[in-house]
Amino acid sequence: NTFVEIDLGEALNQNIRRCKYVKPTPVQRHAIPISLGGRDLMACAQTGSGKTAAFCFPIISGIMTGQYAQRPRGARTVYPLALILSPTRELSCQIHDEAKKFSYQTGVKVVVAYGGAPINQQLRELERGVDILVATPGRLVDLLERARVSLQMIRYLALDEADRMLDMGFEPQIRKIVEQMDMPPPGVRQTMLFSATFPKEIQRLASDFLSHYIFLAV
Ligand code: AMP
Repeated sequence: NTFVEIDLGEALNQNIRRCKYVKPTPVQRHAIPISLGGRDLMACAQTGSGKTAAFCFPIISGIMTGQYAQRPRGARTVYPLALILSPTRELSCQIHDEAKKFSYQTGVKVVVAYGGAPINQQLRELERGVDILVATPGRLVDLLERARVSLQMIRYLALDEADRMLDMGFEPQIRKIVEQMDMPPPGVRQTMLFSATFPKEIQRLASDFLSHYIFLAV
């Protein structure tokens, strides 16, 4: 069982080889084909399971092969195609680092925005263009309120460590963020929810944000 058997395209396969990934981890082996097939996914995944690649590969592949309407240019507002929400600055930076390696020479641009740091540098990064935005919920709400980011063209949403985000009290911010995604026709926005545990609150998020999803526990 190798990555080549999963149809991710040559550019992504090259980057996977550069990262020295040979065999998909269990969560990758199951989650990637589900997401490439267009289904929403709720996955049980611990730190160290390889979940970052599990949500990044389908997003990068989808952006590379998809047809997207021209995004408005010139204005100060940017329109990412994918959003990865994560609870902390540390985790967001880790995801950003990995996503940049995975998207090397694909033309897919990844930007990170997190709280507890000056916003100006992040605004400058965003202005250079963004396809995949990795963000913590609080900082993203700030960017939305400043109208520097619009979520109207989001086609992929990944929630990483969803249980931790709820533990940290981010549920109101997460709901506000998801509400701003212009409700596209059903099936247009693809959502992936990753969580280590599945209490009632996470199940409620899943039923509110996902449609006809597949539940994966590995
Ligand atoms: P994650 O659970 O996404 O934080 O990944 C944990 C660590 O495993 C990271 O250092 C990844 O770079 C690494 N990793 C993820 N997938 C693979 C794979 N298929 N083969 C080898 N290493 C991997």
